[in-house]
Amino acid sequence: MSVQNYYLPESLGEALELLARYGPDLLVIAGGTVAMPLINEGVSTPVQVMGLRRTGLDEMARSNGNVKIGATTTLTRLLEESPVPLLRTAARNTAAWTIRNMGTVGGNLFSPPPAGDVAVALLALDAEVTLTGSGGERVVPLARFWTGFMTNVMQADELVTAITLPVPTGKTAYIKYGRKQAHTPAVVTVAAHLVVEGGRVQQARLALGAVGPHPLRCPQAEAVLTGSELSEDAITEAAQTAAGECDPFTDAIASEWYRRKMVPVYVARALRQIAQEEAAS
Ligand SMILES: Cc1cc2nc3c(=O)[nH]c(=O)nc-3n(C[C@H](O)[C@H](O)[C@H](O)COP(=O)(O)OP(=O)(O)OC[C@H]3O[C@@H](n4cnc5c(N)ncnc54)[C@H](O)[C@@H]3O)c2cc1C
Repeated sequence: MSVQNYYLPESLGEALELLARYGPDLLVIAGGTVAMPLINEGVSTPVQVMGLRRTGLDEMARSNGNVKIGATTTLTRLLEESPVPLLRTAARNTAAWTIRNMGTVGGNLFSPPPAGDVAVALLALDAEVTLTGSGGERVVPLARFWTGFMTNVMQADELVTAITLPVPTGKTAYIKYGRKQAHTPAVVTVAAHLVVEGGRVQQARLALGAVGPHPLRCPQAEAVLTGSELSEDAITEAAQTAAGECDPFTDAIASEWYRRKMVPVYVARALRQIAQEEAAS
């Protein structure tokens, strides 16, 4: 059966009413860059479809030390206007401008690995996801949003309405390693956020993409770094530890074996970037 109704609600309230009416039978699309190819290829055959682009969820605002990004903010807007350099870098490393003009920050949370390049950066920045449904709003740390491959904690009547993060202090690094320089799926994506004071790492956040069922934090590698000097030994140990925390897969881009080999290489490179910036500052 083909699409019977395509709804374009003019407000969040209207969108939530449609979601309450149709539940999981309503396919939600934002930019459509993931959802539409699946429909066009006949993989996904929704009868009811709702586009979010007129719901007014595309605001990006900074206040009280936080940045709030509306779920339907495009990746282009994130690249051009985000006050957080790590997010601008992540957006620049996501797809090409044609896709970035349509694809959204919220949609990136739902993109199957190896996609999710912006989500990896958000994870390293301690982002939280606002979920809004008929019962109101709730906020979930992004680190607890995913439950498995393409599964998450959302209820059937909820939408992602915003992603909020503290403006980072300290230093950040982002590396997406793919088979080409640009416009390529990731072999591995690394986002790191460290706060170094008095020569020691006070806070470490390390996130990986394309090496698990969803973007992953590396709590053991973070623990290796926390309290230590950002020395070559600590970097090597953290990078090796991260390799043990991921759960890579084989696809047309890379084998599971190769991805696991590349994790410590690129984690170490990201951490060295930060160490060099620290040394220069
Ligand atoms: C050629 C090409 C290259 C790409 N390259 C990359 C890349 O390099 N890196 C990368 O990370 N991604 C890449 N992508 C994937 C994709 O474009 C991005 O991840 C984009 O951010 C997805 O956002 P979207 O709004 O288009 O998602 P959509 O296709 O609109 O949505 C995807 C799914 O997410 C759900 N969804 C979306 N928004 C919400 C919401 N607010 N609330 C609830 N559910 C929601 C819907 O159920 C929907 O089915 C690429 C895609 C293409 C086609």
